[in-house]
Formats: sequence, C-alpha cells, structure tokens
Amino acid sequence: METTKPTSPYASLLRGLPAVHRLLAAPTLKEAAILLPASLITQTAQEVLDEVRSSILNTLENPPPYVPSESELIQRVSERLHRLQQPSLRGAINATGVVLHTGLGRARLSEEACAAIAEVAKAHSLVEIDTASGQRGSRQDHIQSLLRELTGAEETLVLNNCAGAVFLAVSALAAGHEVVISRGELVEIGGAFRIPDIIRASGATLVEVGTTNRTRLSDYADALTERTALILRCHPSNFAIVGFTEEVPSPELAALAHKNSLLFMEDQGNGTLFPMETWGLSGMKGSLVESVSAGCDVVMASGDKLLGATQAGILLGKSEPIGKIAKHPLARALRVDKLTLAGLEATLRLYRNPETARTAVPTLRYLTRQEPEIRRLAQLLARGIRRTLNDKAQFEVELVKESSQVGGGSLPNESLPTVCVRVQCFTANPTVMELAKALRQSTPPIFARIRNDALLFDPRTLEPAEIPLIVSAFQKIGTEL
Ligand SMILES: *Cc1c(COP(=O)(O)O)cnc(C)c1O
Repeated sequence: METTKPTSPYASLLRGLPAVHRLLAAPTLKEAAILLPASLITQTAQEVLDEVRSSILNTLENPPPYVPSESELIQRVSERLHRLQQPSLRGAINATGVVLHTGLGRARLSEEACAAIAEVAKAHSLVEIDTASGQRGSRQDHIQSLLRELTGAEETLVLNNCAGAVFLAVSALAAGHEVVISRGELVEIGGAFRIPDIIRASGATLVEVGTTNRTRLSDYADALTERTALILRCHPSNFAIVGFTEEVPSPELAALAHKNSLLFMEDQGNGTLFPMETWGLSGMKGSLVESVSAGCDVVMASGDKLLGATQAGILLGKSEPIGKIAKHPLARALRVDKLTLAGLEATLRLYRNPETARTAVPTLRYLTRQEPEIRRLAQLLARGIRRTLNDKAQFEVELVKESSQVGGGSLPNESLPTVCVRVQCFTANPTVMELAKALRQSTPPIFARIRNDALLFDPRTLEPAEIPLIVSAFQKIGTEL
C-alpha cells in the first residue's frame, strides 16, 4: 500500500545530492577499493547518502537542513571505511580509575603475561605434550605445581571461567543431593549469574539457612540431612551487608562438613592469592591461601579479577573432589585455552615474590598506587590538557580529590583515595557528553568518568605513556571545535 507522507519543503534538495557512482569515482574511494571489497564500499556510500537524505527529510522547520558538499560526502564515506578497517576489539585507555572495569576487559595483564601469550600464539607449543616421553600430556600440568606451591592446595584444575567452575563443581559433587548455603550468600554476579539458578541447573537442591544478615553454625548443622552433599560458601563480592551481621568462619564450616562426611566448598570469586593487609588493602576479605588452609575441599576463583591474570576459573582443593570434577563429562566443555594458560602461568610466576607481583601485575600496581604518584601523573595530564585548550575560556581544568573503585564486582566497600583531573566545559558546544563521546571514539579510545557535568580522569589506572595519548586526543578535538 502506498503511504502518503507529507512532502518535505526541502525535497528539492535531495535531487542535488550526487549519485552513489559519482562518489565511488572519487580517487580516495578508488584507493580504498584496493583494501576492501567493492560491495562494502558501495554499501557504505549508500548508507552515508541515505542518512543525509533522511536528515533532510526530517527537517521540517527552520533553520534549513545542512546539505554536505560532494567532497564532504566523500570524506564521510572514507572516514567510515577507515573505521571498518580497524579491528572492532581493540585496546583502550582506562582513565576511569576503576581497576577491574568489566566493560574494559577486567584485569590488564603484566608484560610477562603478554610476552608468554604472544610466544604460545606465534609458535606450536608444549600445551599437551610431555618432552620426556613424547607422549600426550595434560594442559593442567603447566600450572599445577605452581598453584600447589603458592597456595598449599593438594590438587588444582583450571577451567574457562569461575562461573563455569561453580556450575561444574556443583554438578559433579552434588547433583541429586542438597547444597546448604547461607541466605546472605545467595548472590547474583554480573551477567545474571545467580547462585540459586546455578545450583538448580546443576541438578542439586538448594537449602537456604540463616537470615540475610546473620547465619550461625547451628543453622548449618540443623539443615544437614542424609541428602546433603555439600556446604557452600559464596563470597558476596559485589555488595556488603554491614551492621548487625554474623557469619561462620570458614574453618568452622569445614570442620562441620567433615564431621558429617560432607564437602565444604567456597566460591572465593575475586582471586586474591594471599591477605593484602600489608599493602594497606584491609577491606579485602578472604584469599585463596586462607581458604585452602581453612580446610576447603574445593575453592574457586576468577583469574581476571584481583589475581590480575587472564579470564579463567581456578579450582583448588583436595585430590578426590577435584579429580571428580575433572572427570565430569562437562569438564571438556569448559576447557581452558592455551593462551589463557600461558598468561596465567606467567602471572602466577610473578607471585613467587610478592613485591615483584605488586609492581609487575598492573591490577596490584594500580590498587597499591599511592597518592603522591597519582598526583604527579594528574599534574602532568592537567598541564597537557590545559596547553591544548590554551585560549579556550569555556574549559576549566583542575585537580580534585576523589576516590577510585576496585570494580569487577570486587570490594564494594574499598574506596581508594585518588587525585583526578576534572575538565569542565561551560558552553553548549561541546557538552560534556559530546566531549566524552569524542574521546571514546578517538584512537585509541579513551574512557573517563562523567560526574556532575564534568569529565574526571583518574590516573590510578593509567600508565605514564598513556598521558600524552590523552593530551593528543584533546589536541585533535580542540582543533575541531
Ligand atoms: C566474579 C565471580 C564469579 C564469576 O566469575 P567469572 O570468572 O566472571 O565467571 C563467581 N563467583 C564469585 C563469588 C565472583 O565474585
């Protein structure tokens, strides 16, 4: 059916637009054809023209629509083609101060981990081969002795991620049985990973005990039946219950489980290897070393949270339950990739000397960065930005005291004092939102915090070499104002 649209007063302008083939004849677009398929270039030119057409048609009132010139249209097509040639998944600058920013890929890896990944990626590798016999080996071997050495665990297993590890462990150890967990620990982790759902999906029955804020040893003891398979503790890593609270220490839960010939499992989540109080990070509760020594049969954690390594699900514990998990048919579906293993092994090696780990693992370096260093970086950045915006009175650039977040659903209570560069603009052009968008779309993309109509750049998560990149992005945006 024909629809009758009100005719735009500017419809005549449409006829003035060049045809697609005219745009395609431009030398810059002909050059692009060497690198990209002709159909993609035609489609892109078509899209640009369509957008201009619909913007003209949608302009019904004054001021009259803006009609780009032919050379401007060619420029737009060529910019879009340039963007198509860039990888979609590429590096970015994290000036948000959120150390484990999920959107920006959680943990940034150490130089050592990056080198190990590159080496294993470029060549064939020893992922599943034994050099002594020439026979097939296990990919777990590369990491097992290191994890044992660092945590004291009897047995270890590395899988694709922690959510998968929880699912597999409950499936292997408790399907058809009951899993006892405190009401205060029935958490949802990002991406709708909900502990109650995981337990149900694993074929086990959830038995909630205690209350949201207080759960005692007797609550657990009273819930145990002949159908119980395990007591589960899940660290509520992304929220905190404060005030009138009570929880049972892990060693007591382990003892209760073992007295009743049951298993005690802990989803430690954030992957802190050992207590970090010595580094002034007192808000961090629990660590893999503590869980193992508490007598956990199985403890699991993410590789790419506070451990600062690649995405992985790390399982530690006693030989028998871990062996059972490893033999479950679904274990193959959660197999860890060789690049992940290479990065994880290289990161763990750094932990042999805690001070080396603190400086070499970016997650730890950023978490323990002290204010004087952050302030120095902030001053450098502020000076650079001021220089690029020199005579533009609509901007104000200053240092402000702020706090950084750990992020990645870790340590909601821990806020780290920091010094940010605050950039405010007092005109409508550009607005703070537009400025933030221009930065996100620059090369490399830059992410800052947006707060009260200002942009905040937190140097906590920046490397010194990234500061000139932010300054030159401002330079480029400044010249376009
Ligand atoms: C983050 C987290 C998970 C999920 O880990 P992934 O590695 O992202 O799958 C599971 N449990 C806890 C307690 C967590 O903090």
